[in-house]
Amino acid sequence: MFKLLSGAAKGADTLPAKGAAVVYWMRMEDLRASDNRALALASAQARHDGVPLLALFVLSPQDYVAHDRGARRVDFTLRNLQSVRASLAAKHIPLYTTTHAPRTTLPARVLALLKQWGAARLYANIEYEVDELRRDVRLRELAEADGGGVACTFVHDRCIVPPGQVLTKDGRGYSVYSPFLRAWIPHLTPKGEDSPLACAPDPVPNSAAVRGHPVYGALFESTVPEYVEGFAMDDPEERERMRICWPAGEDAAGQVLDRFLHTMARSSQLGAVDPLKEGARVPTKNPNRDSRVGKYKDERDRLDADTTSRLSPYLAAGVISARACVRATTELTANKKIDVSRDTGVGRWNQEIAWRDFYNHVLALFPRVSMGRPFQEKMADVRWESEGGHLQAWKDGRTGVPVVDAGMRQARAMGWMHNRVRMIAAMYLTKDLMIDWRLGEKHFMETLVDGDLASNNGGWQWSASTGVDPAPYFRIFNPYTQSHKVDPTGEYIRNFVPELAKVRGEEIHQPPPGLADKLGYPRPLVDHNEARQRAIRRYKNPGAE
Ligand code: FAD
Repeated sequence: MFKLLSGAAKGADTLPAKGAAVVYWMRMEDLRASDNRALALASAQARHDGVPLLALFVLSPQDYVAHDRGARRVDFTLRNLQSVRASLAAKHIPLYTTTHAPRTTLPARVLALLKQWGAARLYANIEYEVDELRRDVRLRELAEADGGGVACTFVHDRCIVPPGQVLTKDGRGYSVYSPFLRAWIPHLTPKGEDSPLACAPDPVPNSAAVRGHPVYGALFESTVPEYVEGFAMDDPEERERMRICWPAGEDAAGQVLDRFLHTMARSSQLGAVDPLKEGARVPTKNPNRDSRVGKYKDERDRLDADTTSRLSPYLAAGVISARACVRATTELTANKKIDVSRDTGVGRWNQEIAWRDFYNHVLALFPRVSMGRPFQEKMADVRWESEGGHLQAWKDGRTGVPVVDAGMRQARAMGWMHNRVRMIAAMYLTKDLMIDWRLGEKHFMETLVDGDLASNNGGWQWSASTGVDPAPYFRIFNPYTQSHKVDPTGEYIRNFVPELAKVRGEEIHQPPPGLADKLGYPRPLVDHNEARQRAIRRYKNPGAE
């Protein structure tokens, strides 16, 4: 039975008594009601105390500006928020959504809300970005200074193995992926509740009586706005496309995962498709061999087929947990074992999920990477070009290098890019055009639905040879050779670069100048071999040239 502790008899003006509710503060990276650690703990506490559970979400536009978040990412947040709000409301748990600025006063605002609701306990999942950590420390300080009125508990949820648990022998964070992976794997083996893959219990429903409570009942009235000022998608066609490519909600995320684990890839599914309709259930007799994940080891780099999961927007927004992804793969493996081997599709895919953990650990343990600093300090003085036209041509997909342009146009069309083409486009910007990686990092954040500080920064610093475990600076992708390898049919380029749609054979990868001119396709901005030599000179002696 719930105690609805409030001055209810005295009217709505009276604050609920202290300890009358428990609050879960949902963040931009945990937009789900299931398998959510902080939510589960908050729910258990509320049940223990016999009081209602309330959920809070704060839209903070200044944080979106600070993190270069784009309208697509914010729109995806709002759509998922609506979905999670409905799931919680079905359990009589209100999700109070509010907008706040300036962000420096957010801790005080949250504390004021908690006091207004009579909450003595708050639970939230940790965000590892520096400003967000500072914000949470400040909230705790304010709560303590206020006589310890509210106990704030912050828990790990984003990664499978929390940052700080996978350390080198001398107690440092890993800066190279392979040894990190070897040290990460043993953490997966504990069973039962101790397993890092254990599913957090669903929240227990509140009593329906909470809807009639003078203060808490009103929280059900709070709605999720259609858009956030400054982050609206003005083009209705773009809005619609994003909704088709990236349907919101936990059910949708589950179906996208299911499609990856149980259906075959078809090259006709390259563009902006509805992942829940097209081929969503093309059954395979042997998913471990024939499905997308079954073929992932051999085909994941193919741009001309839809071979990867496309789960990144859902993982970045926490609509599905990384734990749930790895758990689901065990259904496909012998004896339901966790597979992280290099030899199978499932194993390879789980290793990619480990990259996500790796970059989050790097973010938490080496926070300078998120402050615009290269991880390799010696690369801080590399001299960059600032010729404005080249950056814009790259953003517009008009560099004259077809695979780069196809990738950049895929980003614009879908808000998503295949991993291999992110690497090719990022290396082209930083090594061929010699443009500062931070400008590319910002553009990806602004354009991609899955924009995520840890993975995006990790990917950019890898490509720019400035990061943890980076591509060696002298090993520069030749975009034309890459194009042959990863788009052997040329379908990917034809799909995203309509000027080249009719070009057949080898010329699709590097159209001769005469053909390019005839088709209205740009000539290359730079000569790759000359650009390569320039990059090697500058990286070899940063600051010298
Ligand atoms: P799958 O191949 O199906 O992989 C499954 C999941 O594993 C992904 O959804 C992702 O969560 C994780 N993953 C896979 N590869 C990586 C990787 N290299 N690093 C970290 N996690 C990985 N990923 C983002 O989620 N957000 C970003 O903003 C982002 N920016 C990137 C920028 C650059 C320059 C590069 C090179 C990579 C970036 N990545 C980013 C990583 C990767 O490209 C995407 O996660 C992947 O393409 C998403 O497609 P998918 O879901 O089909 O991946």
